[in-house]
Amino acid sequence: MEKTTKTEIPYYYKSIDWDRLVSEYEPPIEFMEGTWKWSRDQIETTQLKRLKETLERGSKIPFFQKLWAKHDFDPSDVKSLEDMHKIPQYTIDDIRESIERKPPFGDYQSLLFEDAAHTPLRFYTSGGTTGAPRPTIYSQWDREVGAILSARTFYLQGIRPGDAVINAWAYSTHNAAWIMDHALWHWNGAIPITTGTGNVTPTQKQVEFAKNYGAAAITATSDYLLHIAETAKKMGYDPKTDFNFKTMLSFGDTKAVEEAFGIPAYDSYAFHEVQYVAAECPAKQGLHIFEDAFIVEVCDFETGEPLPPGHRGNIVVTCLYKTGTQQIRYNIQDISGMYEEYECECGSVHKRLEYFQGRSDTMVKLRGVNVWPEACGKIIQEHDYLNGEYFCYVERVKPEGKPARDEMTIMVETKAQETDSYKVQQEVVELLKQKVGVQINVEVVAPDSLREKTGHGERAKLKRFEDRR
Ligand SMILES: [Zn+2]
Repeated sequence: MEKTTKTEIPYYYKSIDWDRLVSEYEPPIEFMEGTWKWSRDQIETTQLKRLKETLERGSKIPFFQKLWAKHDFDPSDVKSLEDMHKIPQYTIDDIRESIERKPPFGDYQSLLFEDAAHTPLRFYTSGGTTGAPRPTIYSQWDREVGAILSARTFYLQGIRPGDAVINAWAYSTHNAAWIMDHALWHWNGAIPITTGTGNVTPTQKQVEFAKNYGAAAITATSDYLLHIAETAKKMGYDPKTDFNFKTMLSFGDTKAVEEAFGIPAYDSYAFHEVQYVAAECPAKQGLHIFEDAFIVEVCDFETGEPLPPGHRGNIVVTCLYKTGTQQIRYNIQDISGMYEEYECECGSVHKRLEYFQGRSDTMVKLRGVNVWPEACGKIIQEHDYLNGEYFCYVERVKPEGKPARDEMTIMVETKAQETDSYKVQQEVVELLKQKVGVQINVEVVAPDSLREKTGHGERAKLKRFEDRR
């Protein structure tokens, strides 16, 4: 007998329970009146419930089965949030091993491409700034919650219905540009103008778009926002008065961006697998974690033990909302610290992270002192004759008759061509020595000469560091 199969497409509009979605993870308006105002008690009760569900999902994924067995951990060991520390951590190295073990997706996915026949899926990879890309398959639920978290961030930072927002992130295999785009039009009532980065739409064109269509904001790294401001100036515009901007959705040093555009600019924290984790509110005292969707810890670089507020360590993230790949005590190796817990001026008690300090995998130990390229980059901005551009490299040198040692060099651009490089060089060496506590070599170079190394104006995330050891 002939077998007949009826083709069915898992239509997007009926593949998830939308009412459940918005009641569990509130979109911007409901969020500001709801989850944002939760007490610590409400937050922690929800976290514990969702953590248990997350562990249950994790226990079905080979990656976690192996990791947990190796550390003799069982999900039933977690009875309260205080038991978090019992869950084994993992890093990007474990993800890489997983991909090698089971190429090309690794054994950490819970959905594979063939599942798209039953439920809508999306696929993105990490940018691969450090090593090979990490693939992630997202369920529809995960995309929508991720977009809601992004939309909450934009709303907190001033985006309102009817605003046009230039999205200057790279539309590529990486998640960032897409989730922002999705958030803006599905959950903010805003209109994304999808320019992409400077290689897709030249920066001059981006400036014209912003001017002609009255853009209210740009979402980009602070490095690129500053480049846009510079370009606008060269085109004869005043970035402070000739545009309709009201806010800048930034990542990185917002102070320089605020000075360039004369409007508020906000910082956020997000990464590929989980989308927006934390966002700066108008009170600007750290980045509030979306605690209904995450448990974030800051853990000691060496021992991995959770640290109290005020101490710097690695950010360790447990994502509570996802149904596809799970992130359960994922040590993302970004450096930060936690703020003391108190009610913020904005009225929220959601915990706050310090501003991004750098990556611990680019941390260099020089004569016993931990040095981060990003921290050096911040320090050199204080020098009046430098334009803030920099590039660091570390190498192993072996002076005659002495043991080999690591040396770091920072290349810095001057503001003007005709600067006295020798004098500036001496001053910057001294400045770094004072603030970092160890000798760092300084090479002073002409304005714009580091572009090729950092990818300024072309890459979304600039390359600031090279390990030549
Ligand atoms: Zn706040």
